[in-house]
Amino acid sequence: MFEPAKAKRLSIPQWEAVYRAEIYPGVISFAAIHDTTRGRALGGCRMAKYDSESLAMTDVLRLSRGMTFKNAVADLPLGGGKSIIVCDPLVDGEKRDTILAEFGKFIAWVNSEKDRYYTAEDMNTTVADMHVVKKYTQNIFGTTVDPSPYTAEGVFQSAKYTVDYFAMDLFHGERTLEGKKVLVQGLGKVGHTLIDMFHSAGAKLYINDINEKSIQEALRKYPEAVVVSAEDLLTTEVDVFAPCAKGEVVDKGNVNQLNCKILCGAANNILQNSTMGYELQKRGIVYCPDYVANMGGVCSIQYLEVEQLSIETCIENIGKTVRKMLGLTFRTGFRNNLPFNIAVDHAVKKIIWGGEKINEEFQNDTLFPHTSAAEPH
Ligand code: NAD
Repeated sequence: MFEPAKAKRLSIPQWEAVYRAEIYPGVISFAAIHDTTRGRALGGCRMAKYDSESLAMTDVLRLSRGMTFKNAVADLPLGGGKSIIVCDPLVDGEKRDTILAEFGKFIAWVNSEKDRYYTAEDMNTTVADMHVVKKYTQNIFGTTVDPSPYTAEGVFQSAKYTVDYFAMDLFHGERTLEGKKVLVQGLGKVGHTLIDMFHSAGAKLYINDINEKSIQEALRKYPEAVVVSAEDLLTTEVDVFAPCAKGEVVDKGNVNQLNCKILCGAANNILQNSTMGYELQKRGIVYCPDYVANMGGVCSIQYLEVEQLSIETCIENIGKTVRKMLGLTFRTGFRNNLPFNIAVDHAVKKIIWGGEKINEEFQNDTLFPHTSAAEPH
């Protein structure tokens, strides 16, 4: 069970604070606060198994830094953080509830000296799980909003804007999604809404999922959709490829097979590493950076749950922000001859650290004594 005396704050260069605790026998949890220059850190809690504790920590560090960038690109007054519960995500019943309760106590402790990290649902955790966590900490968002349809909205708006932006280069001046071939990988919470949006825009649907039930469900709605096998996923010629299943879809081994004009999906870390961006640039494939395309979910938590804005305003804001940030990304890329995944990082670093600090009080925390440094690798 979570015991404050045994929890540690780890000293990791570039991260404001990283915490580790055993929250249940054999179950470790990490909470990483990367940067609070723009405000309190927000980033969900993943439940996952890892081959080693250091791999889990590497993941929470990488993901928390990603949240700093995503929250900034979404133009939200939030910094970046993330938490992980290292255990079998299929754990259920009383044991699951106990683990979540102890995690809630851990997050309350993390915030006990300084209120600066908010968790939420994420991969393998649900809104119902977060209701359990909420009994033990107030530092939680996303218990009243399902972000997935808004994530889909952001991906759709990104694809729409990119088709328009590159119409002269890629589509003989045709500026809309109508008639464009659009391949969606992963018909889950985001993907199934996304195909509705693409269909409404007149796009030709191509679909892929490892779950046959999801494919059949989509085919009942859209019998004309073309089912693409896993083997043909990258080589199928389409205008837009939207990975909405898992990360690292484009890697060194397959980047040359990719047969789309625009790569734009909800999955995090679509590119195996940043050098893939150069390969895409060489091949003239436009990449909408994942953390721009999938920002709609985090926007919905801020707009609907925190600011209590209307759904219409939330959707309008997501569209505006996507257009603004993709425009900035594409301009930065062209002007500096950089791939768009690198260009967006440059632009966002300026937004985060080049401008005025919104919440200076969150900087330079020294409230917790540093314990031994843990190696991220
Ligand atoms: P989900 O778990 O609801 O759906 C994922 C779908 O992908 C499932 O239908 C699953 O069967 C399918 N799938 C899994 N592995 C596959 C594979 N190898 N090939 C083909 N299909 C596969 O997830 P989601 O909430 O829809 O999220 C989709 C992606 O978007 C994830 O990578 C997630 O991290 C990312 N994302 C989601 C949100 C959100 O608001 N839900 C926000 C940001 C990013």
